[in-house]
Amino acid sequence: MDRKHLETSLFEIRQLLSNLHGEVTELEASYSRVLSVIQNLEGVCNVDELTGLLRRKAFFAKWRKILDSCEKETKTCGMLIVDIDHFKKINDTRGHVEGDEVLKRVAGLLKNFEASGCVVGRFGGEEFVIAAEGSEQDLLILGESVRRQVERFGGCSISVGVASSERQGYDSERLLSEADKALYAAKHAGRNQVKAA
Ligand code: GH3
Ligand code: MG
Ligand code: MG
Repeated sequence: MDRKHLETSLFEIRQLLSNLHGEVTELEASYSRVLSVIQNLEGVCNVDELTGLLRRKAFFAKWRKILDSCEKETKTCGMLIVDIDHFKKINDTRGHVEGDEVLKRVAGLLKNFEASGCVVGRFGGEEFVIAAEGSEQDLLILGESVRRQVERFGGCSISVGVASSERQGYDSERLLSEADKALYAAKHAGRNQVKAA
């Protein structure tokens, strides 16, 4: 191969490499656009559209992380289940639209309690869940603050069941079922109150 021929081939190879570089850059840009669409979709799927709170599955993923890190660092944590009192009556007397407004208001008040190590979700219907680091005493104080806020500004009252890793261990299922039992006890004792398992 003579020198001129070689130079032509080299020129063509450089040209091809440069085109290839352009295509790779375009592919990277498309990939990051697809990624951001997926992330937006995940965000939309994880959040309840009425209240703006995390849906059950997304909440439990975060709760799992709090639980695991607390267990590793031997810190205490727990779970609060919040249930609006006589919500059916609110719907029946004031209508479903106003019922939805009450749900949004309560959700907004609960969201104010979110912080590092404290996450809030909509469990379903008129039930919410809060997972938080802290002792049983801390969780009871948190539950009482939430209850008082809702009583003042929520247009309804709530009952709260609390379960703490101090008593139940770091068992997610058990914490949930004990918090549910405590909630039942709070309802049974007259509602608008906080009970620990
Ligand atoms: P308790 O004090 O024992 O909790 O009584 P309650 O009336 O709050 O409980 P119940 O389970 O009997 O009723 C819950 C009601 O919540 C029934 C259902 O129609 C209503 N509900 C569930 N989800 C929504 C919602 O997204 N919007 C509205 N407006 N109502 C809802
Ligand atoms: Mg309920
Ligand atoms: Mg209720």
